[in-house]
Amino acid sequence: MVILLGSIADDYTGASDLANTLTKNGLRTVQTVGIPDPSLALPDVDAVVVSLKIRSVPASDAVAAAASAERWLRQRGAGHVLYKICSTFDSTDAGNIGPVTEALSDAAGGGIVLVTPAFPETGRTVYLGHLFVGGQPLNESPLKDHPLNPMHDANLVRVLTRQSRNVVGLIDLTTIAAGPGAVKARLDSFRTAGITAVIADAIFERDLETLGEVALETSVSTGASGLGLGLARALVRSGRISSGGATTADAIRPVGGLSAVVAGSCSKATLHQLDIAERSMPVLRLDPEQLLAGPDEIAAAISWAGDRISAGPVVVAASAAPETVSRLQSLYGREATGHAIETATSIITAELVERGVRRLVVAGGETSGAAVDRLAIPAFLIGPEIAPGVPVLRTVGNAQGDMLLALKSGNFGGEDFFTAALAMMH
Ligand code: ADP
Repeated sequence: MVILLGSIADDYTGASDLANTLTKNGLRTVQTVGIPDPSLALPDVDAVVVSLKIRSVPASDAVAAAASAERWLRQRGAGHVLYKICSTFDSTDAGNIGPVTEALSDAAGGGIVLVTPAFPETGRTVYLGHLFVGGQPLNESPLKDHPLNPMHDANLVRVLTRQSRNVVGLIDLTTIAAGPGAVKARLDSFRTAGITAVIADAIFERDLETLGEVALETSVSTGASGLGLGLARALVRSGRISSGGATTADAIRPVGGLSAVVAGSCSKATLHQLDIAERSMPVLRLDPEQLLAGPDEIAAAISWAGDRISAGPVVVAASAAPETVSRLQSLYGREATGHAIETATSIITAELVERGVRRLVVAGGETSGAAVDRLAIPAFLIGPEIAPGVPVLRTVGNAQGDMLLALKSGNFGGEDFFTAALAMMH
């Protein structure tokens, strides 16, 4: 099996977003959790997204991890590798976007790299090299105060230059609007001038389609899900994709087994979804204070679920209203509370799988990450969307056999999300 498009994502949620975008745009896509074992058997896919956690680690660590992901992808035939970054260009002057981009380009034998974080669907656009978030330049948006990587400069040519060894160029919107031929001609002149990376403007999806078509003729590109969309559409247009739009049906082939929902998100949407679920499913509200006190609450939850689960799906929730959350956080500290509850919900999840759960919905980004880590799931095939941004996932290479999952960030999904998700999993 040959991968047409490889991607290395600098964080897990970004990887999921890209994998979903590629799928929606016609590529059969697998997302891995970390660099996969060489023995991982992939189904027939067009694209693989390797999820790493390298956005905010030291640049040398990011480069090393990305390089080994690149080798894995190239060994499986990936002709083009997209380095998936955040659509807000989340990084510092020390990296990691510049150093990883240069390392991936060097590994592919040099050449020019198109770089754009534009993703119009989420309001991220680039004009004359300046990144806008909604209606505001990056440095005036709320991202200017990001806790890890504050962004004080909207001019991405300058930002990337500070992170790069080499000179960075700009492909402006006028050139892009003139089509792929004009962009290629501009790239040629940049190559002659020794430029190895260019920031590309993009405001509309058609700009990303143009960039995707041009990028496919290069080895490496750097961008957000928007560039992924452009690459996917260009691949489909090129006729190289055999699976076409029928990609997702196979991902939701029935897996049987029992079903459950585990919730750790305390977002307003999830709290409301839990209230609605109570009308049709047994819901256990964990006592967060007891969860922090010791293992008894976990054991009680597993026993509660064990008594009910053969009759139908059950819901186990740590989620609580903001007052409870802030009281616990002030007693035990924000990070310690979150981490302890994630550990508890991941243990409960693993025990439920041990007892035969094969269809699983998890609410909460961190909660999902902890659950997937504990279950040691190596990869997912992306299925159809349940709600915008939340697809059904089918495990790949899972020790317990195939499972169907829905991993939802707190605020995603309508009020009947849990029943809607379970209705798509058989
Ligand atoms: P979201 O996607 O809504 O941000 P996350 O799972 O990423 O959800 O984050 C929710 C965090 O809140 C997790 O760290 C989780 O362990 C923690 N948490 C869950 N229930 C409680 C609670 N009752 N009190 C305090 N923290 C909680």
